[in-house]
Amino acid sequence: MSIRLEHLNYIYSPGTAYEKQALKDICLEIPNGEFVGIIGHTGSGKSTLIQHLNGLIKATSGALYYNEENIYAEGYDMRSLRSQVGLVFQYPEHQLFEVDVMTDVCFGPKNQGLLPEECRKRALEALRLTGLKEKYYNSSPFELSGGQKRRVAIAGVLAMRPKVLVLDEPTAGLDPKGRDDILDQIAYLHRQTDMTVILVSHSMEDIARYADRIIVMNKGTVMYNDKPKKVFAHYRELEKVGLAAPQVTYIMHDLQEKGFPVKTDVTTAAEAADEIMKVLENRG
Ligand code: ADP
Repeated sequence: MSIRLEHLNYIYSPGTAYEKQALKDICLEIPNGEFVGIIGHTGSGKSTLIQHLNGLIKATSGALYYNEENIYAEGYDMRSLRSQVGLVFQYPEHQLFEVDVMTDVCFGPKNQGLLPEECRKRALEALRLTGLKEKYYNSSPFELSGGQKRRVAIAGVLAMRPKVLVLDEPTAGLDPKGRDDILDQIAYLHRQTDMTVILVSHSMEDIARYADRIIVMNKGTVMYNDKPKKVFAHYRELEKVGLAAPQVTYIMHDLQEKGFPVKTDVTTAAEAADEIMKVLENRG
C-alpha cells in the first residue's frame, strides 16, 4: 500500500502568458508508514507536489495511485481521500477561527459527519498526541503562543484520523526551541501510530534527523529519492543547486581530508560524536 505518482506533470495557467510548468514527469512511490522528508529550493515544486497528494489540485497529465487506486479515475471518492490524507499548510494557525481550542479541533470530524460525542473523543485524542497541555483545551486559540497554535492546527488534521499526514514547513517562523519541540512531537506521533508522515522542510538538519527517506526537488523534478546517507553523499551536487548537506557532513569530510579516519556518511550531530569518539578510542 502506498502513494504512487506516475509521470505526473502540472502546469499552472496553461495556455496563458503566465503558463508555468511546476512539476515535470514526477515518478515516485511513498510506502505506507514511512517518514519522508521533501526538500528543495523555493519554487522547486514542493507545495505543488504535496497538494496533489490529497487531490487538492489535479495533475495536468500522469497518474496518482493511492493504495493502488487511480485517484483520477471516474467515480473515485475524493472526499474519502481527503480524510485519509491530511494536509497541514504553512502557517496553519491562520486557519484557526473557532472560539476555543476544543471546538476548533472538532471542526474536521464534525465535517466528516460524526456525532458530537465522537468528535470530542477524537479531538481529545488528537490534542494529546500533539502534546498540548490540557489547561489550554478551553482557551481561545488566539491566546496561545506560535508553537501552541501550531499544535492545535496539527490536532485539527489528526482528529480526522488520517493515514497520511503531510506537513508543509511546520516549523516556519518558530524559535529554535519551538521548532525542536514540534519536530520531536511529529517524530513521536510517527512512532506511536502507523501513519505515513511527509514533511516538507528547507532544513537539511531537520530532515536528516527525522526522515527515513529524502526526496530532493529541483526545478519541478525529483533530483534524488533515497535514504539520507545516500542523498548526502551527493553533497557537491546538492551545493550546485543551492542546497547543502547537514553541517556534520562537511565536518566529517574535513576531518578525513586532514587524515583523521572517520566515516563521512553520518548525518546527525549525535552520530558524528559517536564516530569521532570511536576513532579516538581506537587511537588511544
Ligand atoms: P515550493 O513549494 O518548492 O516553493 P511551489 O510548488 O510553490 O514551490 O512552486 C513551483 C513553481 O510554480 C514556482 O515556479 C512557482 O512560481 C510556480 N507557482 C506556484 N504557485 C503558482 C500559481 N498559483 N500560479 C502560477 N505559478 C505558480
